Amino acid sequence: MSECIFCRIVNGEAAASIVAETAGALAFMDINQPVPGHVLVIPKAHIQDIYALDAATGAEVFALTIEVAKAVKAALQADGLNLLQANERAGQQDVFHFHLHVMARYTGDRDRVHLGWHPHLPARAELDALAERIKRQMTNGGVD
Ligand code: AMP
Ligand code: ZN
Repeated sequence: MSECIFCRIVNGEAAASIVAETAGALAFMDINQPVPGHVLVIPKAHIQDIYALDAATGAEVFALTIEVAKAVKAALQADGLNLLQANERAGQQDVFHFHLHVMARYTGDRDRVHLGWHPHLPARAELDALAERIKRQMTNGGVD
């Protein structure tokens, strides 16, 4: 039996409330529902995180995510929706099998859903310098 809880769900060895699936992707309810409508979308293959994800699998997972997002909104009359995705411990990843969180949001739910970061609005030169460093690492060279 797999060590990975999401692989166990894929293999039918652990309980899950399945929402939808394709050949390579699976959507199921997160056990934690801070507000109703928190769905996880995963590749069926054990892929640890964004760095290990190939573009084709990522596209399949994202295509299913789009369908799930629309269905969550329509089914639960959500007022808004967030996509979240965590990588590595510092990024607050807890399950090391890639997953996208689809989270329905409702007007006035901010006491139950905490998203946010400390505001810092650097000067344009600092933004340009950061963009330059990232651009140089991109295989396609980034945008001009
Ligand atoms: P993350 O912190 O981004 O790695 O998110 C992991 C998510 O997996 C959390 O929201 C958990 O509530 C959820 N989770 C953990 N175990 C299960 C499970 N057996 N079935 C459904 N969701 C789960
Ligand atoms: Zn896994």
